[in-house]
This record gives sequence, structure tokens and C-alpha cells, in this order.
Amino acid sequence: MSPLRDELLISPLERQRFDRQLRLNTCGEVGYSRLKTSTVAVIGAGGLGCTVLTALASTGVGRLLIFDFDRVSLSNLHRQPLYRDQDIGFAKVEVAARELSTINPYCHIEIYDRPLRRYADLSTLTDVDLILDCTDRFSARSNIAAICREISLPYCYASVSGTDGQVALFRPYGACLRCLFPHFPSGGVIQSCDQGGVLGVTAQMVGAIQAQIAIDYLLEKPSANPQTKAQRTTLHVISTSPFSVQQLQMNRARDCHLCHHEGSHVTSKVDHNQTIEPFPIPISAQRVMERMKSGWSPLIIDVRTEHERAQGAIDRSIHLPIESLQERLHRAHKSAFNDSTLNDLSDSDALVYCQRGPRAERAARAIQQYKAEIKTSTVRGNGEVYELVGGYCGWRDIIK
Ligand SMILES: [Zn+2]
Repeated sequence: MSPLRDELLISPLERQRFDRQLRLNTCGEVGYSRLKTSTVAVIGAGGLGCTVLTALASTGVGRLLIFDFDRVSLSNLHRQPLYRDQDIGFAKVEVAARELSTINPYCHIEIYDRPLRRYADLSTLTDVDLILDCTDRFSARSNIAAICREISLPYCYASVSGTDGQVALFRPYGACLRCLFPHFPSGGVIQSCDQGGVLGVTAQMVGAIQAQIAIDYLLEKPSANPQTKAQRTTLHVISTSPFSVQQLQMNRARDCHLCHHEGSHVTSKVDHNQTIEPFPIPISAQRVMERMKSGWSPLIIDVRTEHERAQGAIDRSIHLPIESLQERLHRAHKSAFNDSTLNDLSDSDALVYCQRGPRAERAARAIQQYKAEIKTSTVRGNGEVYELVGGYCGWRDIIK
């Protein structure tokens, strides 16, 4: 959290606007100053995001970063109260920023009309105090969890499904989302709001709880030792009709690959009774360098074109353009085709990269799927699959 500036001035108009919360013992001028010097990134400006953004802006958070690549549609309006009929077709981040600036003109808003990770220049998040996960896809949640673990950022997760919801604050030294969900179910197991339906009020209730937990975190006194208060994590399990909230305490899972990825192979087993959607682990070039210096030697796979590879490549990488990789994985799995490269891949960590990121994600997911499938018939298929965030361009910038 940004250091509290004792001299932070509150103008008379500002004092009038925030009068009721300045009177609160739990906030007061010191608390308000903490909120005003805080930066929060909100990923997703949909059902949860609209409520969360409105709450954070109206409570006086000083700087908001909003990531969303969606456009406002007619079916959003019943549960996303920042948007109106006349906003249909416009970028959500632009409409949200316009509306929020009228709620609190003292809030500085930065918008990113794109997903968080495709442009995961981690430097964007360096001065962020807290990330709020308001997304509705497990792949996006997985990425937020990995990025936050990578750069030791706390994040507040929330999800809505039907009339139920979940909220948890994950701190850098506590449990993470992957401790809770070691293997994310596919979209067919847990339905998103688009598939399963949702009442607007449910998203708003869960969003309000998420916002309150975020504000409580921002109001905490900065601690000299963040590790001491971070060991246990509370998961709030919310049912809105009939209303109930259950609080479950959780610790770090011993076999969580995000929390313990420095250790040996992951020991958890894939549950073959459940459809598993594979999620590779995003890793930054900086982190790859550090781990390689400590002896990590994954199989490095370059999935770019011949032309791109001719411009330069990571040392000791093997070249498997994405189309030929996918075809070889398919053949090896369907016909027990003996492919020496894939045999190497079966039991080691893999690091996949492309020019900037998106192709590597697809390739890494295909490899992870292959590993999960061969695990059903053999004892092989160990090792993790990593995708290089920022691709070769990011790598080149680091080694310069
Ligand atoms: Zn974990």
C-alpha cells in the first residue's frame, strides 16, 4: 500500500461528499486517506465489476485500473448497472470510466480495453495494492492467480453461479485460488452466468461483499510483517435465496503448484471422473531466468513460424510450429505413434513460447491436454507446462 501521507489535504467539498464515512470510527480521515492513496486493479467490468467499481469509486479509492475487452450488449443491462440502452455496442471500460468519474471526480481511472494477460506487461501492475478478480471464466481466473503469485500481489476472488456465490481474499503468503481449485473444471461442469442464467441482484450482492472485503483490506494498518497475518484464508460461500453465508477456513494446499512450484513434481492426481480443462502456468521471462540459474531445465518449445525464428530464438529451444505440434500430438495420442520429442515431453516440464503470447497459450494447452490423456493409460505425463508471458519479444527485452 502506498505510504500514508499525513499532509493529505481533504478539500471542503470533498469533506462534504464523504462526510458520512469520515464520521465512521472504522474509516475516519486516516482511513479515507489510505483509500485515497490506494490503487486497485479490477479485472472484468461485468456483473461483479459494475458493483465493485461503483463501491470502490464512491468510497474514495484514489486510483482504479479497469481491464475488460467486452462491449455492452442488451443482455448485460439487467445485472450491470453502470450501463444503459444508449451504451450498447460501446466498450465497457469507456462507459464505466465515464460513469465512475461522475460518482467520484477525485478518483483517477485508467482503462485497458483488453484482457489482463494478453498484454501482461507486469510493470502495469507494479504500484497496484490489490487486484479484484471479477471475471467469469476459469481460464482468466487461473491467469490472475498465477500473475498475482508471480509478483506477490493480494487479490480478491469472487464468482457467481445461479443464486450462489463465493468470495475470498488471497494474500501473497496465504492460500491461493489453485489451492482451492487444483484442477479447474471445464465450462460444462460449472456454468457461467451466460450459460446458466443469473439474477442481477445476486451478482450485486456478491459484488458488494467482494467490495467490502477489498475496502477492509485497504483500510488495514500497513503491517511491518505481512507474512504473520496471511497464513489462513477465509472462503465466504454465499447463498442468496434463501440467504446464508458460510465461512470456511483454508490453508495452503501441500500440492498446489502455484504455491510450491519450486518443489519437485506435482503430486496431485488428475480426477478422471471429471472433465478437466487444461490450464498452463504463465511465467515471466525474469522468473524463467531466475529458475534456470537454480538448475531448472524445462524442454523449451518455440511454436513460431520459420520466419520469426530466423530473427532469433531462445537458446536450446526446439522448433515446433504450432500447426505441426498440434498434428503430432494428435497422431501420437490416436495411434500410439512413436515420437521421440513427445516422449521427452512426457516426463519433463515444458516451457512454450511464441512471439508475444497467444499462440503459446494454445500450444501449451494442447500439450497439457496430451499429458492428461496419456496419464490415463501410462504412468507418464508428469511435469508442468509453462507459457512464457510476453513471448520472445518479452524475453529479448530482458536479455538486452
Ligand atoms: Zn496455492
